[in-house]
Amino acid sequence: MIRSTCPYCGVGCGVKATPGDNRTLLLTGDEDHPANAGRLCSKGTHLPETVGLYGRLLKPQIGGDEADWDEALNLVAARFNDAIAKHGPGSVAFYVSGQILTEDYYVANKLMKGFIGSANIDTNSRLCMASAVAAHNRAFGEDVVPVSYSDLECADLILLVGSNTAWCHPVIWQRIEAARAKNGAKLVVIDPRRTETAELADLHVALAPDGDVALFNALLADMQARGLTDGAYMADHVDVPPGFWDSLTGQNSATLGGINAACFEQLSALVAAHPKMVTLFSMGVNQSVSGTDKANAIINLHLATGRIGKAGAGPFSMTGQPNAMGGREVGGLASTLAVHMGFSDDECAAAQHYWQSPAIAKAPGLKAVDMFRAVHDGRIKALWVMGTNPAVSMPDAGFVREALAKCEFLVVSDCMADTDTAQYADVKLPALAWGEKAGMVTNSERVMSRQRALFDAPGQAKSDWWALAQVGRRMGHKDAFDYDGPAAVFREFAGQTTFRNNGKRKLDLGEWAGISDAAYDDWMPWQWGGASPFASGRYTHANGRAKMITVSVAKAMVSSPQLPLILNTGRYRDQWHTMTRTGLSPRLSQHRREALLEIHPVDAAIYAIDNGALAHVDTAQGSAIFRADYTDAQRRGEIFVPMHWTDNYSNQGRANLLPSQAVDPVSHQPGFKRSAAAVRPVAPEWRAFLVSRDGVNLKANILYWSRSRIVGGWLYEMAGDGMIDIDQMLPPGERIEAADLQRGMRRIAVRGGEDNHLQAALYITRSGTLPNREWIVEQLQTDAPADAPELLAARPRERGPDKGPIVCVCFNVGENDIIRTAKARNSTTVEAVGEACNAGTNCGSCRPAIAKILRAMHSEALDTA
Ligand code: SF4
Repeated sequence: MIRSTCPYCGVGCGVKATPGDNRTLLLTGDEDHPANAGRLCSKGTHLPETVGLYGRLLKPQIGGDEADWDEALNLVAARFNDAIAKHGPGSVAFYVSGQILTEDYYVANKLMKGFIGSANIDTNSRLCMASAVAAHNRAFGEDVVPVSYSDLECADLILLVGSNTAWCHPVIWQRIEAARAKNGAKLVVIDPRRTETAELADLHVALAPDGDVALFNALLADMQARGLTDGAYMADHVDVPPGFWDSLTGQNSATLGGINAACFEQLSALVAAHPKMVTLFSMGVNQSVSGTDKANAIINLHLATGRIGKAGAGPFSMTGQPNAMGGREVGGLASTLAVHMGFSDDECAAAQHYWQSPAIAKAPGLKAVDMFRAVHDGRIKALWVMGTNPAVSMPDAGFVREALAKCEFLVVSDCMADTDTAQYADVKLPALAWGEKAGMVTNSERVMSRQRALFDAPGQAKSDWWALAQVGRRMGHKDAFDYDGPAAVFREFAGQTTFRNNGKRKLDLGEWAGISDAAYDDWMPWQWGGASPFASGRYTHANGRAKMITVSVAKAMVSSPQLPLILNTGRYRDQWHTMTRTGLSPRLSQHRREALLEIHPVDAAIYAIDNGALAHVDTAQGSAIFRADYTDAQRRGEIFVPMHWTDNYSNQGRANLLPSQAVDPVSHQPGFKRSAAAVRPVAPEWRAFLVSRDGVNLKANILYWSRSRIVGGWLYEMAGDGMIDIDQMLPPGERIEAADLQRGMRRIAVRGGEDNHLQAALYITRSGTLPNREWIVEQLQTDAPADAPELLAARPRERGPDKGPIVCVCFNVGENDIIRTAKARNSTTVEAVGEACNAGTNCGSCRPAIAKILRAMHSEALDTA
């Protein structure tokens, strides 16, 4: 058994993994890890389904041809040196990722800032938590998360702001639920959408998009009016800027972010009554053009009421990625130099001395959006993208694709061969994936844990830190990049955090600067800064005091008759980022097989969008197609689409080409969650779905396709106009066919192989309905092959009950199963449903969905009583 850390979200759960033959894996939660105490969510639970070698990049490539490492590394070093010699250090850039490990980050940062002499290294963490970093720096003088997960368990009130915690940080959600059950803590969710998280709150505040600053300013004004600010704490520990309190006046109900006075009263009364309050915030706060002000408005409330530095109290930014925090510690953002240092003369001198480097970056570099603009207009000549997929994940991703296509020299390090970004690469470098690489990650509460190798490196895949160090050596800096393993890199990083620190910064890992290789191998989770880094009331600003920041209400987004709706983007429960890993899991793919457009039924009617039909979403940047899903959980005038789908999974489903390049003025984080948009129906001449053992190349002549992994193959949803090129969809074999040309229906099953098993089945209609998918999907894995009429009908002769959409992916339990079980057993609780049909009893990620189904059944029963 090997202890490691989950590679997905910033909760940073520990896992215990036992690798077997052929890259099989037994995996459980690590009960000794402080983040999760043995819990895992659906994504962590199904990691073993994602560690195969499907789609992997296993050898370096130059211009699409296989090459050896020496050749590839020499070329990268030569082209970077060449660009620097001709155009200066500002002509090259690294774009890295919260997926890479601390050691990778450290070598990348050192090479760019100390040896190339530019700060043009930024990370996809810019897209998820740069505003929280900027807010921490403004308020505390250092990017320090002031609380720990255990604070959630001793809080009396938890505010979740812009966070669908039950889906995006599920183990934190499980901890919150356990704490509420134990101590009765109140839960408020502040979010424009009525998410599954909001459904379970004591109060849901459905504020308008970007209404957060108005709301928190008003809350603070109200606390002051109630005499609940903490004058003594502020006098001792907080600088309040002149005019701060006056800036809060005028925050009346009209400006409260679109909520009514009664809702505000309820919220304010809860805040007033519960001084032990944690405010957990996430992407709804950060991914905004006013994200830094929003985060500071939250922090202001905590500082002014003294709700910080005490058990059960504080503002808590949850990081999105597994090592976003590690990147922040190293300084792998263009806005910091290294190890929580900025670009003052003293800090630059300290870094240069520590690195013994020939150069040092003297000013912040290009941040993500600006970096790709510089690639687009030719200022950046050579770019190295590492462990991320900006062709999909950046806002205005169509522009980013143009930039990548124009880039004179693009290097992509990735474990996957054909990411949307890798298609533009001049050089591809094969990286190690989770389960192969070894290093350190830091989670949202500053706990540093090890990711450990579970399998041998496949093919010629290598660590990112190794590739970076090799390029550094080949660029002429041999001695500075001479590491014999990740422990050596970690020692150097730890040493830098303590060098000329002298208590100036909380981030000080000096005690680990001499860690032995063996101790590094045996590392157990450890939290820097302690559970409550500001318990003493001393902050990192030079005078030791925190600062309140005057923040003002964001200007309203300009909508137009052409773009009358507000588009929000976000995550699904069971997918991670651009699906390179989670998209490989048949179980995880069951939760949402396609990207859905969530739209209020009244809006849908206005724009003639049918429930379940395809619809265009248009913005000034571009257009994408999603399947409409009616829900009154969306506020009127607002729509939501997921951000996960790439060219590998859909030809039209990329959400991030829709938002603009607008960024927060302080953090430069893009505003993904508030774009002016329009919707219009898609009216294809035919619709179809295909179940196939093999992946199919559907790139030509199909208006829309989207695919998801199923056990033993793929499920494709398709729509198009004109003739259907059936031969591009079906493999060779015995074809069984039925057609009703009047209704435009055609169904074809293909059998083959040794046992004459189903190889593929295609169902097309021009005017009717398509059959259910769930039974035919299972026919790729069954030992008892169905007969021809069953295959063509896509259902068994003896029809069993319809499961409905899958809710519990661990036990394959559908919505209809849950309703039937609850009715038959008269079950009214999630626990009772679990006892009866297992749903929700493994990872627990579906428990909010089960609760929602039970609530709907209950209100239906009341309505009909
Ligand atoms: Fe992984 Fe889930 Fe834990 Fe996040 S909450 S670290 S995705 S197991």
